[in-house]
Amino acid sequence: MTRASVTIGGQKVAPGSRATVLLPVPDTFLRQGSAMPVHVFHGRREGPALFVCAAIHGDELNGVEIIRRLLRLKRLNQLAGTLYAIPIVNIYGFMANTRYLPDRRDLNRFFPGKEGGSLASELASVFFENVVRKCGYGIDLHTGSNHRRNLPHIRGDMEDPAVLSMAEAFGAPLALDLSGMEGSLRAAAKDSGVRVLLFEAGEPLRFDEFSIRAGLRGITSVLESLGMLPAGKRKRRQVPLQIATDRAWCRAPASGLFRAVAKLGQHVGQGEVLGTIHDPFGGRSTDLVAPRDGVIIGDQSLASVYKGDAVMHIARFDAPRQAQASVDEYSEMVMDARMAR
Ligand SMILES: [Zn+2]
Repeated sequence: MTRASVTIGGQKVAPGSRATVLLPVPDTFLRQGSAMPVHVFHGRREGPALFVCAAIHGDELNGVEIIRRLLRLKRLNQLAGTLYAIPIVNIYGFMANTRYLPDRRDLNRFFPGKEGGSLASELASVFFENVVRKCGYGIDLHTGSNHRRNLPHIRGDMEDPAVLSMAEAFGAPLALDLSGMEGSLRAAAKDSGVRVLLFEAGEPLRFDEFSIRAGLRGITSVLESLGMLPAGKRKRRQVPLQIATDRAWCRAPASGLFRAVAKLGQHVGQGEVLGTIHDPFGGRSTDLVAPRDGVIIGDQSLASVYKGDAVMHIARFDAPRQAQASVDEYSEMVMDARMAR
């Protein structure tokens, strides 16, 4: 029996072909008739359906570049199943270099969305109904927000064995067991039985080569593990996955200009000095001290901080030294590999 075509946005995509489908999105008052481009690869052979999406937050660009590189891989001609790749979900925010929609709503609080709702709710619904519901799996690409950068790591419902095995296949050494808050794509997808892994890497509005390469490597590994791409001849080196037991932001004890000494991926002990907040007029300096033991998975890149600002994100692991060693080994592996650019 021959494999059926898939239909999306009224367009049929035959087995063994690829297409770029424009999904009409709610218009603003400007009557520009905008659309969300979706790349569809419909494999000749049967297999799972998976989506990869980026820029649900319009200023998170690493994922856009990860998908651009993914789309250029010749290996996709051998795809089994169906891959939906959406480089820019929040097209309005992307055009304005902002996380939000024009009405300041956060799209990732409006899934699954509904027709007749707000702009955010309608945009969420276009994506959810046309793409997410057609898939068994998804990978959602993000960066830190608001001048904060993340060490590449995974977030997802690690209690779900299918999500856990995707996380292990992805290959990033650290993960947070988080199902996503209400209205997030992850939470809505979970309610619909779609397994979604979230990859957090880098900061908004800036490319980070390590994050981009780690994302591309991770996605192709997941596609291999689901049987959607043939496994490479050489077995990929992997580091063991560690799931955080706890996490917290370390907040600025004073306002001023922050100079960090601790780096992303570093294991720090309780009481260790992470950096110093200086008075720009040469007065008092105040140390930022780790309130707990753990590994730094996020930090603020903006030098000016105000008292109470979240400056460093520390996650606890059962084996924190091993976690730091895995991060070091992983970054070497990722940056050494010859990958598509
Ligand atoms: Zn985000």
